[in-house]
Amino acid sequence: MNATIMQERRAMGHGKRPESPLVSCIIPAFNEAGNIVALLHTLHELLDGSGYRHELLVVDDGSRDDTAQRVLTECRSLPVTLVQLSRNFGKEIALTAGIDHAQGDVAVLIDGDFQHPPEMVPTFLEKWRAGYDMVYSVRPDRIGESLGKRLFTRAFYVLVNLGSPQKIPANTQDFRVLDRCVLDALRQMPERNRFMKGLYNWVGFSQLAVECATAERRAGTSSFNFRRLLNLGLTGVTAFSNMPLRIWTLIGCCISLCSILYALWELLRTLLFGNPLSGWPTLTVAITFLGGVQLLSVGILGEYIGRIFDEVKQRPTYLVRQVVRPYGETTP
Ligand code: UDP
Ligand code: MG
Repeated sequence: MNATIMQERRAMGHGKRPESPLVSCIIPAFNEAGNIVALLHTLHELLDGSGYRHELLVVDDGSRDDTAQRVLTECRSLPVTLVQLSRNFGKEIALTAGIDHAQGDVAVLIDGDFQHPPEMVPTFLEKWRAGYDMVYSVRPDRIGESLGKRLFTRAFYVLVNLGSPQKIPANTQDFRVLDRCVLDALRQMPERNRFMKGLYNWVGFSQLAVECATAERRAGTSSFNFRRLLNLGLTGVTAFSNMPLRIWTLIGCCISLCSILYALWELLRTLLFGNPLSGWPTLTVAITFLGGVQLLSVGILGEYIGRIFDEVKQRPTYLVRQVVRPYGETTP
């Protein structure tokens, strides 16, 4: 361990890392048959080369291709664990299932499509050894993304961080290393509407951002279409911010104030100049505008209430079809 690393550790006052830590690589996979085997071999070689004991934990998130079968064949020769979910629950839940099943002293969260460069894993782990509890990747730019997606993401981060003391940093990725203390903290969070980037941020601990560009997906296509992105955005905003509710309270106050002023003005005008029958356009505009504002605010309330309903039902976050441990041990 070099001098800078020792200094970093002392500066942060962190506990020791185990001499020979077990590293769990958590890989959420949905229709990744074209990538998964190559990724497992790459990670195995990298971690073996750096001398880390490791488990490669693939969470098959209800894939419709033969991702699970391909992983199962690797379970015979590599330290691969397959957690197969009963259906597609979405990436955030797949990551949650991975965190719940990881046995390591430290976990690496990495996408199954090679977009997160595996060769960065040893660097991240070095930072963890130096004492950081969470090491995460930040994109230097968003080149390659459509203008619509970039604008949407920017608007999302502005909204979710508005008035919040605990800002979620923009451009962070799920590609990260989490110490056991962070994994245990995340496991204590029972919410079903999960926005992982918000949760990583909420738990705190010592965090380090490392700049790391995203690569091209090697095979297959991204499953994040606009509908999924919008859904994730709404989950993030409703789970981490009450600002939308407050904004509408504020707008409601402003509109009420304006209408009181307008009523006073009309009263004065009638007293001074009489009341010729006029004002249809004003009336129509006022009614439609207020109708729109009310529907929108009821919709936002509904968004929160729907999520409260999800939470009070207390359903399990996910269901597991089977867990296959390395070298073929199966548990239901
Ligand atoms: N993924 C998942 N469940 C889903 C969608 C995606 O586990 O419902 C996985 C996917 O296999 C990949 C990662 O999440 O490993 C990122 O997904 P994707 O590449 O589709 O998203 P993008 O990189 O375009 O944001
Ligand atoms: Mg991807």
